Amino acid sequence: MFENEVENIASKNSNEEIYFDLLRLTKNMMREKGKIQGKKKLYYISAEFLIGKLLSNNLINLGIYDQVADALQRHGKSMAEVEEIENEPSLGNGGLGRLAACFLDSIATLGLPGDGIGLNYHLGLFKQEFVDNLQREVPNPWITEESWLRRTERSYTVLLGGKKVQSVMYEIDVTGYDNSCNTLKLFDLDTVDDTLVKENTIYFDKENITKNLTLFLYPDDSDYQGQLLRIYQQYFMVSNAAQLIIDEALEKGSNLYDLPDYAVIQINDTHPTMVIPEMIRQLSLRGIEMDDAIRIVSKMCAYTNHTILAEALEKWPLWFLDRVVPQLIPIIKLLDVKVREKYQDERVYIIDRDERVHMAHIDIHYGFSVNGVAALHTKILEDSELKPFRDIYPDKFNNKTNGITFRRWLLHCNHELSSFISEKIGEAYKKDATELEKLLHTADCPADLEKLLEIKHEKKVQFKEYLQRKEKISIDENSIFDVQVKRLHEYKRQQMNALYIIYKYLQIKEGKKPKTPITMIFGAKAAPAYTIAKDIIHLILCLSEVIGKDPEVSPYLKVVMLENYNVTYAEKVIPAADISEQISLASKEASGTGNMKFMLNGAVTLGTEDGANVEIHQFVGDENIYIFGESSGDVIKHYANADYSSEKYYDADPEIAKLVDFIISKELFAVGDKKSLIRLYMELVTKDWFMTLLDIKDYIRVKEQAFADYEDRMSWARKMLVNISKAGFFSSDRTIAQYNEDIWKLHA
Ligand SMILES: *Cc1c(COP(=O)(O)O)cnc(C)c1O
Repeated sequence: MFENEVENIASKNSNEEIYFDLLRLTKNMMREKGKIQGKKKLYYISAEFLIGKLLSNNLINLGIYDQVADALQRHGKSMAEVEEIENEPSLGNGGLGRLAACFLDSIATLGLPGDGIGLNYHLGLFKQEFVDNLQREVPNPWITEESWLRRTERSYTVLLGGKKVQSVMYEIDVTGYDNSCNTLKLFDLDTVDDTLVKENTIYFDKENITKNLTLFLYPDDSDYQGQLLRIYQQYFMVSNAAQLIIDEALEKGSNLYDLPDYAVIQINDTHPTMVIPEMIRQLSLRGIEMDDAIRIVSKMCAYTNHTILAEALEKWPLWFLDRVVPQLIPIIKLLDVKVREKYQDERVYIIDRDERVHMAHIDIHYGFSVNGVAALHTKILEDSELKPFRDIYPDKFNNKTNGITFRRWLLHCNHELSSFISEKIGEAYKKDATELEKLLHTADCPADLEKLLEIKHEKKVQFKEYLQRKEKISIDENSIFDVQVKRLHEYKRQQMNALYIIYKYLQIKEGKKPKTPITMIFGAKAAPAYTIAKDIIHLILCLSEVIGKDPEVSPYLKVVMLENYNVTYAEKVIPAADISEQISLASKEASGTGNMKFMLNGAVTLGTEDGANVEIHQFVGDENIYIFGESSGDVIKHYANADYSSEKYYDADPEIAKLVDFIISKELFAVGDKKSLIRLYMELVTKDWFMTLLDIKDYIRVKEQAFADYEDRMSWARKMLVNISKAGFFSSDRTIAQYNEDIWKLHA
């Protein structure tokens, strides 16, 4: 019966027909799987869910991927081509959204009742295009007539700008690996009008909230109207969430006083913080006394902190919130009064002396758990950033080191490697990732190491072909693939990697050629209003052009910037990587999850002791990772003492100056925008807020060592093997098991 259906689908002519038939089949199968049940349920509220394409992932989790792929092959079709029909949902931006997606997969896989709650952005963040070596942003529509989205009958009344609007709830089923389903619930408004957006731009009239509310994720907030829109989005998300949570609990027999027995809310970063006052408001609308409502909600909410960058901790002026959510203001003021009654330290007030509301402070006082996302990050929160809170609530603080789902980041994106692993140690690692350790005993012989190198080569060839087809760029599969893919931010220091490229370029010009050619691969979107980030993209694209046109250098060095880096791209490039660039300024990257994906796919990390790199280092040992740069402790001291001066490094060291000066060389001016290059040069010489010049020389030294070590292929393969076999800890199944054990306490 099922075999016939698959056969029938595979025999269709066009990939498009096949895709939509498989979509329908898969959706039906997931419906039949049924929902994961339980009295108490988790609600994971997040502004982003960077879920990636779903077809292959769902087929894998339903256990029918191989069967479908075989049937396609017998009919001369390929899964890879069918997959290309699917649009990648554009519901997220970077690591935080991808984490939410990995968590949904693991929650369902562990059989825990837990749904995601977010917004149904029509045009996503933006689609990145390169024109004249500059980033251009255009809309990224992804919703097709038939898609994974299912419209539901659920609808809530939400107060927006003094008007009542009716929401509509969509659902996407999330199937666990060999388990039943949870759902991702995405709220929207029927009145939203995509035609509001000016032709092929991300500009639109920001005034009319009912027409623009869910057009974009993180709409431009460089002006007042844009900032209002962000709060409208946040409020719309959490008001729907609060009403849904209450309704589902009532349907299960709650009397609302026992709501914490029915629901736990994980607040992913501060964007969903208003769920706390809104939930209190919704409970008081249902006749519950204010003090009781506060007590109930405080037992339901847990907060995850994702960053210690001060500019990312949301603070909104009180008068501003009063414009958008006047109904919450009395509650927020009351929450602040209660804090002031108990604590005299103004650093922990919710409303500060400048009348700004600190969103994270609401979460910490009125949630029962506060977690960081890697051991180092949690320690920095406890010891410095959130120390006053830690002193008040020592028991609320806990660490949950991030993880990734091995279904997507190994089984799906690297069939070759996962087959090899299954051959060596069996299939158990698919459910218990720590089993990967067994590889160290069973695959540590020359023949197996050779096999690992062959698999890596095959993935490099596949990526080369993909790049050729997609972007008409040719790369050399026999070169070293050195990869830095992640959002563009100064703290992530793509600019330092760019200075390395300049170093290598000048070396080759002097006749010092690398033994094996190097391909430097970048992928990164910059926030549309983040000028310096866009300048860094410009520099990388200009370097790519200068080097590509230079016959003396191009046989040895190539620079590629992937256009519109997203999950689909990540799945192709990460398995092909030899070196994983994780070079953030120590103390600034909360965890990183890209680092884990690379490790799992046999790339060796070149990084600072930052975020989860610290834990990766501990697992693999000094021999199997390349660490450089000043420690987080020293960096934190530089900030405290304000004693870092990039100008001093520039003036004192002609080797550094030579690299930085190249940014404003005649070679780069010939292909780039002078204004942008000069601006970046000035930034590096006079500000360099993330201390590029502090670490650049150590970075070059250690990177040269990594390239030299690469030449000994067998010892490199051993490093790959150790990285793969030690990756088990970074499965999001482990992370979720810990969240459940310590915070959610759900029953599987
Ligand atoms: C994993 C992932 C990220 C996060 O990468 P980091 O290196 O941890 O910042 C960002 N974007 C995409 C598409 C990803 O898959």
